[in-house]
Amino acid sequence: MKDEQFRYADERFADIQMLRYRVEGFDALSLRQKKLVYHLSEAALYGRDILWDQNCRYNLPLRRMLEAVYVAIKRGDKRLGILPEAETRAFGEYMRRVWFANGVHHHYSMDKFKPTFGEDFLRKALRDIEYPVDETLMRLIFDDKFLPKRVNQADGEDLLQTSAMNYYSPDVTQAEAERFYAEQKNAEDPHPVMYGMNSRLERDEKGRLVERTWKSGGMYGKNIDRIIDCLSSAHEVAENDKQRQVLASLIEFYRTGDLRTFDQYTIQWVEDTLSEVDFTNGFTEVYGDPLGLKASWEGYVNLRDNVATHRTQQLSDNAQWFEDHSPVDSRFKKSVCNGVTAKVVEAAILGGDLYPASAIGINLPNSNWVRQEHGSKSVTIGNLTHAYAEAAKGNGFREEFVIDKATRDLLNTYDEALDDLHTDLHECLGHGSGKLLPGVDPDALKAYGSTIEEARADLFALYYIADPKLIELGLVPNEEAYKSQYYSYLMNGLLTQLVRIELGKQIEEAHMRNRALISRWVMAHCDGAMTLVVKNQKTYLQISDYPALRLAIGKLLAEVQRIKSEGDFEAARRLVEDYGVEIDADLHNEILSRYRALNLAPYKGFINPCYNAVRNDAGEIVDVKITYGEAFDEQMLRYGRDYSL
Ligand code: ZN
Repeated sequence: MKDEQFRYADERFADIQMLRYRVEGFDALSLRQKKLVYHLSEAALYGRDILWDQNCRYNLPLRRMLEAVYVAIKRGDKRLGILPEAETRAFGEYMRRVWFANGVHHHYSMDKFKPTFGEDFLRKALRDIEYPVDETLMRLIFDDKFLPKRVNQADGEDLLQTSAMNYYSPDVTQAEAERFYAEQKNAEDPHPVMYGMNSRLERDEKGRLVERTWKSGGMYGKNIDRIIDCLSSAHEVAENDKQRQVLASLIEFYRTGDLRTFDQYTIQWVEDTLSEVDFTNGFTEVYGDPLGLKASWEGYVNLRDNVATHRTQQLSDNAQWFEDHSPVDSRFKKSVCNGVTAKVVEAAILGGDLYPASAIGINLPNSNWVRQEHGSKSVTIGNLTHAYAEAAKGNGFREEFVIDKATRDLLNTYDEALDDLHTDLHECLGHGSGKLLPGVDPDALKAYGSTIEEARADLFALYYIADPKLIELGLVPNEEAYKSQYYSYLMNGLLTQLVRIELGKQIEEAHMRNRALISRWVMAHCDGAMTLVVKNQKTYLQISDYPALRLAIGKLLAEVQRIKSEGDFEAARRLVEDYGVEIDADLHNEILSRYRALNLAPYKGFINPCYNAVRNDAGEIVDVKITYGEAFDEQMLRYGRDYSL
């Protein structure tokens, strides 16, 4: 299919624009590799319900109930009387929002959705189709005060008691959970596991805290057994011995839930740099737990893009040079930068917490000591960034928010390429750089840890994107190009990222806090090299001295690395609370109304392609076909039907 014929932008609802991505490299794979993609994709889809349940304990029954009504409406079920059109439409939108968020809370703001259809509408529809009414679910949908927020990060409140996530039973307090995990930690252990990562913290009959582990025969055991089956099929068609070892260890981990096995699996996975088809499958990111310990389930499969990977290879080959020349205190630097492998990939399937909203760059594993001793694997997902760029062409955004034509031209010329480069730098050098001082608890920054870590990686990227070394390596065309990235990054951090937040709310999500913190801190410490100016009642970012910004970025990088390396919780708290949280209400209002006038969706997510296995009479797979046409709701209903146990 040619670019012009492929529709990157699909349907639009609420604050969401659905996109499609293409997997260009799939057809060129061998049959064996296609089978590998197929089995790994199935494994990535079987974990979906784990994530739904992690997000809130009522999400799965809620989804089943809503889908029963949705399907009845869609198929024109005769039992339904005549439904008011506006409410039917409002219900359809609510259903899509719940699908998109993998639950009843917004995927980004974490706030519970407010339905725009009435309770009577839903009760009547349920009665018509004879679906039992569950009063708790009714409360979940219609009572604003019941479980209003998935992850609460408000300083000073009990973060577990005020969050609807399902990683702890509802009666466990923050202080208890923190004590429980503090007691497990042994500061002497150079190779600590990620305590609590794959379990729910509950109470036994005697009221003592116990962990219920997610594994075969344990919590989510049925889903995990199916994942194990798919991984076993993948094992048979693995590309090489290393990948076979990786799959065997992951299967072993899913069987036992043993976190030492998990670490072993991630080390082997980092060492597998040869496979063209690669994957992540398991309990991975901790943003969904207010304490940052418990990992949400995600899975995806990728194919290496060999041409673009040459670009990131240049970065990882020079990792030690970047580490040595950073403005960070030498006590916090790695003396040996090993194994920062970076590649550009195409996503082949997205699952769990990477679907439908997805990251575009991923650096794993998350264990600090594994990263220090064995390195990490970093990917930039090229076919997703390309889909974003294609869908954004000509949407009027830059005309509205960029200060003048010269700056707009700068962005139009360089920004797509420099954005990709920023992601590469962030993932393959930023997160991989620096070290903790001996004895520092990797979780010392607690609720501020994620924001500080993202700031560290972004600052590393921003500092180096302006370095002549990148021109020398042929990754940046000239001395002007980096300015496009500075402008777009800082404009986003100061102004345009606010479009993702409701008026009256503060900044809560870790990546957004990080961008605000960097942009505002740099503005306050650059002697006027950048300012906000108002022209015709519209606020714009004006930059008069780019090199001065780089100096400020370097200073902040040094401080953020110090905070991380020393585990300086108080400094982390101050930096985030002073620069990364509050929003000026007038400015927020202005940005929202300018953005509204453009009629764009602030969030985007992806519809997956479908993989169909063609089997012979003996049931063996003889081909795997990829298709792209499936509608969002059909995909959601199919996943609910085929991958729910
Ligand atoms: Zn990051």
